[in-house]
Amino acid sequence: MSAEKPENCLEVRHVSCSFGVRRGLFGQKSDRLLAVDDVSFTVGKGETLGLVGESGCGKSTLARLILRLLPLDSGDILFQGESIAHLGPGQGAARRLQMVFQDPFSSLDPRMKVGSSVAEPLRAAGVPAEECRRRVAEMLEQVGLAPEQAALYPHEFSGGQRQRIAIARAFITRPDFVACDEAVSALDASVQAQVLNLFKGMQQRYRFSCLFISHDLAVVGHVSDRVAVMYLGRLVELASCRQLFSAPAHPYTQALLAAASSRKPGAKAPLVLLGEPPSPLDPPSGCVFHPRCPLAEERCRHERPLFRELGGGHAAACHLAKAVL
Ligand code: SF4
Repeated sequence: MSAEKPENCLEVRHVSCSFGVRRGLFGQKSDRLLAVDDVSFTVGKGETLGLVGESGCGKSTLARLILRLLPLDSGDILFQGESIAHLGPGQGAARRLQMVFQDPFSSLDPRMKVGSSVAEPLRAAGVPAEECRRRVAEMLEQVGLAPEQAALYPHEFSGGQRQRIAIARAFITRPDFVACDEAVSALDASVQAQVLNLFKGMQQRYRFSCLFISHDLAVVGHVSDRVAVMYLGRLVELASCRQLFSAPAHPYTQALLAAASSRKPGAKAPLVLLGEPPSPLDPPSGCVFHPRCPLAEERCRHERPLFRELGGGHAAACHLAKAVL
């Protein structure tokens, strides 16, 4: 029998996740917030899938579901062909998935020397102390720090250096999949470019698969092979970088791109999104984007658009999206 591994590193199948929230002045009413609503996609081996959308659209929840930091309501997550939906964080195959957060302090203990923090995932995997020290020194050098800096504490580093340390910690076990959640958003432009280049260099070296989450389309376009766009817990478009930036099919993606290009000198005024994003506690019927969509028709108010293939791997959830020839 062939033992060939599947082409996909990760497969997210119809995943949904909701949270209980308290409402009312004294929290007397309880409701459910559907943070991720029937989301499906794959990430190929060695591929970087960018994930964009406004704050609160469910991007970070999705990453935490994949990393097994949150339970699913329904659906399945397959890692290298095996379901990991029943596993806790760092259990079994989930050990081969890692995450880089926006705020490196969330993964670095301020009272622990950075060498110990970087070594922690290795120690948890039972790697002997001497081998841990050797690999930490090697990894610090790879992320542009000196091995001697292992003896310092997180507060003795700049924001960009702390993110390098968080990257070293995430990569020390040679993961097969990494989720980067707004990993460069808190950095200023020049440091952001350095960290992105470091990240691309690491990917060339280790060939890991990645879900790269950002609200910034330019950043996502810089590192991704394909891009997924999320709105109010749903995936609304998925395409290669080239397809998405040259021929976006969903009106929400079109508005995001127009807003991003309007920030460039001499650009035209952006396609303005109508109103504010609706509350995820009370999502609109039909197409969740319809209250803000300049192209909305009557059926958009009642009929949920299917997330459908338009051709060439380009998919979108819009009644009006045309097939790509
Ligand atoms: Fe706009 Fe209708 Fe398409 Fe939704 S389905 S994005 S409301 S045109």
